[in-house]
Parts: sequence; C-alpha cells; structure tokens
Amino acid sequence: EAKRSGRGRPVRFHGALAASARRRRLIETDLRGAITRRELGLHYQPIVRAEDGETVGYEALLRWHHPSRGPISPLEFIPVAEETGLIHEIGAFVLREACREASGWTSGRSVAVNLSPVQFRHAGLAAQVASALAASGLPADQLELEITESVLLDASSNNLALLGQIGQLGTRIALDDFGTGYSSLSYLCAFRFDKIKIDRAFVSGVCDSREALAVVRAITGLGRSLGIATTAEGVETPDQAECLRREGCTQLQGYLYGKPMPAGALPEYDTIRKAACSGA
Ligand code: C2E
Ligand code: MG
Ligand code: MG
Ligand code: MG
Repeated sequence: EAKRSGRGRPVRFHGALAASARRRRLIETDLRGAITRRELGLHYQPIVRAEDGETVGYEALLRWHHPSRGPISPLEFIPVAEETGLIHEIGAFVLREACREASGWTSGRSVAVNLSPVQFRHAGLAAQVASALAASGLPADQLELEITESVLLDASSNNLALLGQIGQLGTRIALDDFGTGYSSLSYLCAFRFDKIKIDRAFVSGVCDSREALAVVRAITGLGRSLGIATTAEGVETPDQAECLRREGCTQLQGYLYGKPMPAGALPEYDTIRKAACSGA
C-alpha cells in the first residue's frame, strides 16, 4: 500500500489480463459439449435485393446461449474454437443445421454459412459440405459459403484446391468482409467468387465519408466488371441504402431490414415485411 502510486497501474493491468485469461479458459471449457447440451443454435439474417427489397436469402449466424452467463458473442467464442480445434466440430454442426433448416423453407431462399479459415486445415471439409447437402436434401445452389481473404492467405495452394472442390458441388462462394484485412485484389483473380460482401466499416460511412464512398464505389465497380453480386453488410439507415443503391450495390443486409432471428421467426418476419412494402 505504501508504494501504491508506483504500482497502481501495473497491478490493475495485470488484474485485467488475469480476468481475461480466466474468461478465455472458462469459454474453452464450457464450449466443449455445448453442442450436445444444445446450447448452440443458428439465427438467420435476411439479405435483400437492392432493387426492390425482396428477400433473396439469409445468413446463418451462430449463437451460444450459456446456461449461466447468457448469450456469448461469436466474436468471442469463435476465436477460442479456432485455437482449440473445436471449430471443426462446431463448423460441421453449423453446416448440417443450416442446410436442415433451409431445406424446410418453402420460399426456396438460399442460406449463407460462414467458414473459418481453420476449417480448411481439415481435408474432409468438402465431404462435410456434401454430406450436409445430402442429409438435408437442400439443392447445392441454395447454399452459399462465406469465406474471408485469410483462407487464401495461408497455405494458399491447398486451400484454393479445397475451395475449388466445394465450388464444384454447385454451392456459391462469397468473399466476406471485403475491404478489411489484406484486401489484395489478386484473390479476385485466384478464385472465381460469386459474390463480394462489402464490410460494414465502409457501409456505415458511405453517406458521410468521401473515403468510405470511394471504397464502396470501387468494390461495386469491381463486382459489375466481374459480373458478380455485391452485398453491403450492416445497412442501418434508409440513407445508407439509398447511397448503396445509387452505387449499384446489388444486395443489402443489415438491421434496417432485419436482425438475425431464429428460424421459427422467419415466416412472421416475412408477413410483416410484405405488408410494410405493399403499404409503402
Ligand atoms: P460476419 O460474417 O461478417 O457477420 C456479420 C455480423 O454483423 C454479424 O455479427 C451480424 O449480426 C452483424 N450485423 C448485421 N447487420 C448489422 C447492422 O446493421 N449493424 C451492426 N452493428 N451489426 C450488424 P455476429 O452475429 O455477432 O457475428 C460476428 C462474426 O462472427 C461474423 O461476422 C462471423 O465472422 C463470425 N461468425 C458468426 N457465426 C459464425 C459461424 O457459424 N461460423 C464461423 N466460422 N464464424 C461465424
Ligand atoms: Mg459473414
Ligand atoms: Mg461479414
Ligand atoms: Mg463483417
């Protein structure tokens, strides 16, 4: 206590580190078995056509409801799953579950599933995708897989081959979070993506920041030249939607259209949106 002034900071810093290490260990321990305890489930967020607001598909987003701590964000537990290798089992669950739920949608809308770069270390990934499709009966062209550039960054030749195998199944492949990370344009030449997703970081600034607008314009231009879709992530306001439409962005996704929701809530969401659109 006598040397408090000199030590206060490091002690507090150390305390914070210890607390975060404790939480990390807790997540690791509790994540094992979370699937069998049925604590993991998917929410679905609508993706709409920019032209007319028609829902074209949904992105599956993983949710963990911890029995005592409540909801834990995928931003927190996915990295732990990746470090521990649990992502292979969790990723397989997500694929199975998303295909199973989507196969029951009478609308025939597609489902987008996020794949971690770590899942590409498992040579059986393409077989996992194929078996999720076969078990559910979901047509391959209704499954879209979202990957980030980091998939092409490490061990690229191997991952590229695996990505090719998955594409061969008839699924679509989207490049997620484009504009952040490495954003090397060479990835767009290395693989023929079906879609580029523009990261929320640029979408949120599209109306007020010249720089953000310039990036959005460049990406939508790339999409047009390549003849592929561009989806804006994190659209929250009608102004943003308007700017994005003007730039020729083809699909929009964000809280403005709908938050991620359980599969059971989708029919009601659909009814409400249809009523809102025809009323407007
Ligand atoms: P992502 O794939 O880029 O997903 C978009 C994230 O933005 C989601 O966060 C979504 O809920 C959020 N979002 C959507 N619209 C808006 C909006 O208008 N405003 C704001 N502020 N946020 C919006 P979420 O669900 O927390 O997921 C975060 C990330 O975790 C995902 O980013 C993805 O990288 C990862 N993730 C989620 N589910 C899975 C999964 O099943 N497998 C893997 N490997 N990663 C997943
Ligand atoms: Mg995604
Ligand atoms: Mg994204
Ligand atoms: Mg993102």
